[in-house]
Amino acid sequence: MALKVWLNDKLVDKDQAKISVFDHGLLYGDGIFEGIRVYNSKIFEFDAHIKRLYQSAKAIRLVIPMDADTLKDAVNQTVVANNIENGYIRLIITRGIGDLGLDPLICKDAGVVVIADHIQLYPEEFYEEGLTVISGTTIRNHPMSLPPQIKSLNYLNNILAKIEAIDAGAAEVIMYNHEGYVAEASGDNVFIVRDSIIYTPPVEAGSLEGITRDVVIRLATKENITVIEKNLTRCDLYVADEFFLTGTAAEVIGIVKIDGRIIGDGKPGATTQLLREKFDEYTRA
Ligand code: PMP
Repeated sequence: MALKVWLNDKLVDKDQAKISVFDHGLLYGDGIFEGIRVYNSKIFEFDAHIKRLYQSAKAIRLVIPMDADTLKDAVNQTVVANNIENGYIRLIITRGIGDLGLDPLICKDAGVVVIADHIQLYPEEFYEEGLTVISGTTIRNHPMSLPPQIKSLNYLNNILAKIEAIDAGAAEVIMYNHEGYVAEASGDNVFIVRDSIIYTPPVEAGSLEGITRDVVIRLATKENITVIEKNLTRCDLYVADEFFLTGTAAEVIGIVKIDGRIIGDGKPGATTQLLREKFDEYTRA
């Protein structure tokens, strides 16, 4: 059966899911999106994702052409139509069709796309062995440019950093901000453990307000582990006892090497493993 994609106001076959070359989402990366997991036929942290989407829209003065309940219904219909029990949803709002100028007000109707599909995960051994990352030279967007809190369709900042990782044969890249503090990875939030305390950069250091990040902070707190939001330097990463990333696709994944420095004993640490287990229990519950 052909994949069904939600396009504006209805489900269409994948082959019919096409948007105009004049859509500013394509011409300028003018739009926003969410990546959402489905576990056991349930949409994970659905309300949190919808809230973040509407906040991203507000920040870029984009009007989502339907209310949250109608949008959620479109997402639900797309998941059901494709029989997705465990998978991934990409929810996209584009600025819509305009002309070749920048003016977003020319674009009268924002485009709505929902794709629900199976997900390509990191292989299991990556979770068991941990990942190698590098420090990128591409700094994260300054909050007075395109704020990293906005999950916009313009990912070039992160893509430039990701290219550095690919060139270096590393799985991910750590991005620093204009002041030299850790912001985030190209598609994940950053955590370290030092002397049994978890540290993560504050969102204002230049990261997305990750939904997995929030869940992991809640799960850690429930396990009586202290979590502190604090600016981290590259050196803090080098000397961490443990280092892990969180994100919708990666969930919780250990980092065992950065810039040639081995983290801990070179295996994902006990806290990382505990949080991965707790996250697993939480999502599969
Ligand atoms: N930072 C960036 C830049 C991201 O694209 C993502 C999502 N892949 C995250 C962090 C993690 O956010 P979430 O847990 O909401 O997926």
